[in-house]
Amino acid sequence: VHPVFADLPVTVFEEMSGLARELGAINLGQGFPDDQGPIALRRKAGEALIEGSNQYPPMRGLPQLRRAVAGHYGRDQGLDLDPDNEIIVTSGATEALAAAFLSLISPGDEVVLFQPLYDAYLPMVRRAGGIPRLVRLSPPHWRFDQAMLEAAFSDRTRLVVLNSPLNPAGVVMADEDLALLAQFCVRHDAIAVCDEVWEAVVFDGRAHRPLMSFPGMRERTVKIGSAGKMFGMTGWKVGFLCAAPPLARALAGAHQFLTFTTPPNLQAAVAFGLDEPGDWFEAMPAGLQRSRDRLAAGLRQAGFAVLDSAGTYFLNIDLPASGVEEADRAFALRAVREHGVAAIPVSAFYAQDPVTSVLRLCFAKTDAVLDAAVERLARAR
Ligand code: PMP
Ligand code: GLN
Repeated sequence: VHPVFADLPVTVFEEMSGLARELGAINLGQGFPDDQGPIALRRKAGEALIEGSNQYPPMRGLPQLRRAVAGHYGRDQGLDLDPDNEIIVTSGATEALAAAFLSLISPGDEVVLFQPLYDAYLPMVRRAGGIPRLVRLSPPHWRFDQAMLEAAFSDRTRLVVLNSPLNPAGVVMADEDLALLAQFCVRHDAIAVCDEVWEAVVFDGRAHRPLMSFPGMRERTVKIGSAGKMFGMTGWKVGFLCAAPPLARALAGAHQFLTFTTPPNLQAAVAFGLDEPGDWFEAMPAGLQRSRDRLAAGLRQAGFAVLDSAGTYFLNIDLPASGVEEADRAFALRAVREHGVAAIPVSAFYAQDPVTSVLRLCFAKTDAVLDAAVERLARAR
């Protein structure tokens, strides 16, 4: 039994969803929409399942999906990606992250990560032999600066892992911060693993700028996307790795022994969705923005202090500023057990020196669910 995994608790997402199921609570914890996703894609997946091939697709993914990913990122983010040599389809962003860590980290390499961090990163980095160097971000702005990067980077830095838009904070990192991080990557000859699963879920007219597009980063960035997040079907587990050919070859080496492929009907449906999105990439964030605003307004009216959310499915409550004296986890457990609302304590995203004052809520829900959750949370305050 490897010590990295032996004592790991069940992830907080499964813990809280489990409690919500068991107690019949409203689940604003784990991030997934109430809505089942675009019907045209679901039909396509069904058709492809019945009429298409159900045998192994090519190891790097269906050619039409790789072309569709390149087309989408070209139109949406101005990237010029070669579908044959720079894109690999994975079984979700989770597999893409594992492939990146397993193929790019050698034992003893230092890996810079930002807290709050998505819970999959640290165990996988450690299992690959990486030595984590943590940069601690904190509310309300969740920003890093030059001094923080100087303290984390060294001549042993191999990778930096960046998640923007940032789950759970809901921040979209500022261009000047990304430019600063790019300078550090170039100076230290480090590779950036960019978890951009939330790239399509940004609000108030913002545009997502991939770190890959900053000077010096094209050849040293692994960009990770997730169709599950792009199309609001989190169970689909279709992800993308994008990287320059030498990096992509290394990533493909890991991918071929992790999963080798991803179900072909889902790949075909995602290709269709990217090639013919209609107004999806405007309507989806617009709808979520309305939900964000509804939940924020309800919470404020109930006396909660709400932090800004510029992207993701999440908005955060500042508990002390809301008059709550408990730490986030205690409040979350009481809210689900006694008041029937599951949420995620943000301290779960810290490995050291946790921020314990913030509670994450998922607003990708119907108005009725959001309104009922506010009523219940108001009683928990
Ligand atoms: N990274 C982040 C930051 C996430 O929030 C998630 C899922 N919510 C993932 C990775 C995993 O994505 P997937 O479901 O495509 O594996
Ligand atoms: N990414 C989702 C969230 O942040 C959870 C994913 C999972 O449950 N593994 O809520």
